[in-house]
Amino acid sequence: MDLSFKHISARHARAAFFCALLGACQATAPKASMVSAGTTVRGDTLREAGEVVRALARLQPELEALVPGAALGELEIWIQDQPHVYAFPSDMDYDAEGLYAPDLKRILLARGTRDMERVLAHELTHAALQSPWDCLPGTLEEGLCDCVSAYLVPAGAARLRAGRLSGAALACGGIQLALRVTPMSKGPNDEANGAWETQILLSNPPIVPAAHEAVFSVSAGLSSSKLSTDSKRAFYGLSFLAMDRIVKRSGFAFAFELCQRAKESGLDTVPESWILEAAGLDRTEASWRHAAIEAFGEEELTHLICMYPSGLAGALANHIASRGTSPEHERWWEELSVECFLVEGTASTSLNNLWPLRVAVAQHLRR
Ligand SMILES: [Zn+2]
Repeated sequence: MDLSFKHISARHARAAFFCALLGACQATAPKASMVSAGTTVRGDTLREAGEVVRALARLQPELEALVPGAALGELEIWIQDQPHVYAFPSDMDYDAEGLYAPDLKRILLARGTRDMERVLAHELTHAALQSPWDCLPGTLEEGLCDCVSAYLVPAGAARLRAGRLSGAALACGGIQLALRVTPMSKGPNDEANGAWETQILLSNPPIVPAAHEAVFSVSAGLSSSKLSTDSKRAFYGLSFLAMDRIVKRSGFAFAFELCQRAKESGLDTVPESWILEAAGLDRTEASWRHAAIEAFGEEELTHLICMYPSGLAGALANHIASRGTSPEHERWWEELSVECFLVEGTASTSLNNLWPLRVAVAQHLRR
């Protein structure tokens, strides 16, 4: 997640201005600091700061090589328990793992975050983007930063992609999953217990109407957007989907070219139609949902199932119970082969060794 206040509301802009004037309202700087190539990293200990300095030393040249029009200037990076800019409670403070405050040229990172490098890569991208990248409309800069972080930190990429793609698909009607259960060995009584299949729809009540259109106008990365976490998830997901498709089809250079072309044409932002064409999407919700689901691979599907185990676990538990399995046969993974696949996509995965699902099925069987 990211929180940026480069276009904050007038009320917040005034508050930020007076705070800057007084110099008294800002959060206290962490006590240990290390300087590396124009960037000061501050943490509670030199060891903590050093870890970020090492990550920065790798990420900065790779980021500047990957993304045209990206250059990091002077920057501070603070490691905090929870990223916050001001000492007093503020709605600018958000439960994000990272945050970039452009006015202060400061990145704030959550201490102990699971994906420090990925979060740092995302925030560094915000900090490095130069004009005309500011022509990206709505939430699309968030999608770009996520794409860059997925390229630079492949270790966290599948989980990030699963979160973003599911956010997009759930905003566009949901994800249809199919469950196929096959007995591993056929005994004399197993004719009646052949393969069994069912479908489960993962869906949310619509949070934002036509979110796939609103993503071009709503800046979900800004605190002034006042969006719920679910709405942010939808917009971050749709933004990632559009930018990921552009980058996969034509590279970061083409996304940059769209921004240049918009600037040269005297436009404030890249027109929606250019983005849709470059991403191979249309204005229908279904085209965005298909695109999101098609982009799932096996790894992303596995992460999705671990995020939402309940629906699948309930269906599987009911099937196991209907087979008349006695409590000592609850070790279903030893006698059934259970596979999950995406109805609208191509990915499939075995559920037999997924621990979160085993736990969820056990909970359902005990209800
Ligand atoms: Zn961000």
